[in-house]
Parts: sequence; C-alpha cells; structure tokens
Amino acid sequence: MNVVLPPLPYAKDALEPYVSGLTMEVHYEKHHRGYADKLRKLLAGKPEENASLDHLVRTTEGDVFDNAAQVWNHTFFWYSLRPGGRAPQGAMLAAIERSFGDLAELQKQLAEVATGHFGSGWAWLVLDPRDRLRVVSTRDAENPLRGGARPILTIDVWEHAYYLDYLNDRARYVRGVVENLLDWEFAAENLRRATCGEDPLPEADVAGAARPRGETRGEEG
Ligand code: MN
Repeated sequence: MNVVLPPLPYAKDALEPYVSGLTMEVHYEKHHRGYADKLRKLLAGKPEENASLDHLVRTTEGDVFDNAAQVWNHTFFWYSLRPGGRAPQGAMLAAIERSFGDLAELQKQLAEVATGHFGSGWAWLVLDPRDRLRVVSTRDAENPLRGGARPILTIDVWEHAYYLDYLNDRARYVRGVVENLLDWEFAAENLRRATCGEDPLPEADVAGAARPRGETRGEEG
C-alpha cells in the first residue's frame, strides 16, 4: 500500500505572513502526512486498497472515512490557497455575482461561517446540486461531496491550522486567508469541472500520487 501525499504547490513559507512556515511544516508534515500514514495502515490487505481517494471519501465510514477525507480535504486546502491570491474572473466571477451579488458578500459569508463554526471542521464554498454557489461548514473530516455538492474552495478551521500563529484568534486567521490567499483560478477550475460533470480535484488513487497541480489547471494557464 502506498498512499502518496502530493507535494505542496508552493514553498512552506510562501503564505507568510498569513500562514507561517512553522505552521505549514507542522500542518503538512505531521497532520496531513499522519492521516495518509494512518489510511495506509487501515487499508492494508483490504478490498479498498486500490480504490480512488474520491471513492473512499464518498462511500466509506468510520476510521477509513475520517483519514481518507482528511487526506482529500488537506490536499484541496493547499490548492485553495496561493501566495498573492488572485482575483476571480470570467465564469467564476459571474457565478459569484449570480449567487452572492458581489465578491465582498461572498467573502463576508465565508469569513462568518469559518469563524463561527463550532469546534473542528472546514468552511467551504460549494456548488450545490441546483448549480448555486453556497458557503457551508462541515464537522471534523466531513466533505460536501457526500451531500451531492461540489467543493470549490475550502478553509481548514481545525485549531492546528492557526493556533501556532494566532493562538485562539480564529477570526484573524480566517480574515488573512479570505482576503489574501484564496486561489480563484483553482476555484474556477473546480467550477468548470463541476459544470461539465468531470470528476473533482484532487485526482488521486490511494495507490499513487495525485497529479501535480500544473497538469490540472486546464487552459487557464
Ligand atoms: Mn488541518
């Protein structure tokens, strides 16, 4: 069994000052890698050993789900961030305006949901089954794919995502991410895939590596 972590799409200190290099070191090397190591042990010798990560997230329960989803969610989270962010454009911007009125309103709702979520979990921008963008949060490892929605962007709000940098001030961590780091090109690619009925990112077999980010960006360049 060989659950491979995809490499980070940027250097560990690239998101400073909003997310420190120390937080990235611990978050990626200890937490994300820890979930992958645990998943590998749980699947050893099981029929699911060669399933896709996507399949495990959609269909399993208990420890296998928790660890598979945390591997998926963290990979998706790294891709949701980008040094310098980037502004939404084209179809992405049009979808934001249809669902929220403008980007500022989306940012406000995302920050409120991420900050207000009780306990560990994730805040998401999703495309719901009626093709409307919505902000939702999920508990622990839970992933919106299981409710039929398509993840567009996510923010990790587990304490390990911000405590080293912000102690208990989750609001300030969330503000830094929402206003400075969200990668709207990645969001646009997820929206395009969802609209075209293509599989969601990250494309990863648990037996192999996720595709490097450069091969998943389509024609956006
Ligand atoms: Mn995390």
